[in-house]
Amino acid sequence: MRRDLRLSDLPALAEALAAADRVLICFVLDPRLEQSAGDRRLAFLVDSLRELDERLDGRLLVVRGRPDDEIPRLVDAVGASSVHVSEDFSPFGRRRDEAVVAALDAVGDVSWEPVGSPYLVSPGRVAKSDGSPYKVFTPFFRQWRDHGWRTPASTSVSASDLLDPSDLTGSGRIRIPQAPTTTDIPAGETAALARWAEFVAEDLAGYDADRNRPDLDVTSRMSAYLKFGNIHPRTLAADLTGTGKGAQAYLRELAFRDFYADVLHHWPSSAWHNWNRQFDGIDLDTDAAAGRRFDAWKKGRTGFPLVDAGMRQLAQTGFMHNRVRMVTASFLVKDLHLPWWWGAGWFLDQLLDGDIASNQHGWQWAAGTGTDAAPYFRVFNPEAQAKKFDPDGAYVAQWVPEYGTDDYPEPIVDHKAEREEALRRFGEI
Ligand code: FAD
Repeated sequence: MRRDLRLSDLPALAEALAAADRVLICFVLDPRLEQSAGDRRLAFLVDSLRELDERLDGRLLVVRGRPDDEIPRLVDAVGASSVHVSEDFSPFGRRRDEAVVAALDAVGDVSWEPVGSPYLVSPGRVAKSDGSPYKVFTPFFRQWRDHGWRTPASTSVSASDLLDPSDLTGSGRIRIPQAPTTTDIPAGETAALARWAEFVAEDLAGYDADRNRPDLDVTSRMSAYLKFGNIHPRTLAADLTGTGKGAQAYLRELAFRDFYADVLHHWPSSAWHNWNRQFDGIDLDTDAAAGRRFDAWKKGRTGFPLVDAGMRQLAQTGFMHNRVRMVTASFLVKDLHLPWWWGAGWFLDQLLDGDIASNQHGWQWAAGTGTDAAPYFRVFNPEAQAKKFDPDGAYVAQWVPEYGTDDYPEPIVDHKAEREEALRRFGEI
């Protein structure tokens, strides 16, 4: 198991159960991912694993190590004839899987069976008529919708289908650590399904109208569940078949998620470099003063209330509303003139839903350096954004309670002047 920590609608598990009398379900805790996941995502992962293990009557094997060592070792230990996984399209995941396949080849006659993915339409499937990838969302979206996907299938698994890891000597099994209780959103498939049902009943109908309002807090909060595969987007899409505006708007957001995964699939370097290399020459601030401004941004002490509210929500909870992600990202790039990848790195460190495809391309959108980018000369005005999307100031009041008192900092920059400065720098290139 990898980014598919659930039991229902899991083609890899269904195929494994069909292929063999008995299946060993295992998760390899890769130290490289432990290092880069950020504490919150690690806690969410551990909680998801614990739930799975409980539902499998203790038959989930968790080992720690490199998958290219651990998988061949386990294959050998149980005499497996095949390894079934959900396909992983991230640059890291692809390299890792290539190493696993090479190591399996050395073991002998065992087949590697990737099936399904965390997306409605897997990366690489939607293409222009000449086979080249889309660079613009809207035409991608049309073809994506026409491509379609299967309806969710239930996978039934019982303990008798599974090998009991405690029967395996030398399995390398580690105990799933006690969960830190720091995540605001409870992990696991059961919680994901419950949250989705609640969202459909209460907020889906009004989603189109209200999704940009951080003060209303009416979005689905499914992003972390989707990130870890506690739920598959097919399960969500199955409830979005009506023509209601809310359902259609929600489906479009799921398409954005697939689009960014597709972009990363075709241009893996866009994870950390400008997708549009024309922007490589822009003058960015990276000196000590820039470092201090970056610090103020991270701490939510820029003197711009909506920016500060978002950054504090992120630091305290690991979540930030989408509209505010756009505003804080734009502020870092256009008002502070810092490299977008600084901000993207901080987001990845903090976000519970931190995802290399959605995050990096969300940042490139804000910076104007990505596919389908907002024109680089469009600069968000943080005050105007606050008036429009937090009209009563409730969101700011929640996260920046000292706003309006002497304890609140003065603005660290003059928005109007920095807007001009950003345009001047873009003009240079
Ligand atoms: P909802 O509004 O309920 O949306 C439903 C689902 O649609 C989301 O869970 C998500 O899977 C998908 N979605 C919605 N908007 C987007 C989008 N713009 N791009 C891709 N998918 C989308 N999303 C992540 O999952 N991980 C990230 O690391 C991430 N980083 C971002 C960074 C920036 C700078 C920006 C502008 C956006 C980022 N997003 C990221 C997209 C979006 O902000 C979050 O998916 C959303 O806020 C999650 O809250 P929700 O589940 O309540 O969203």
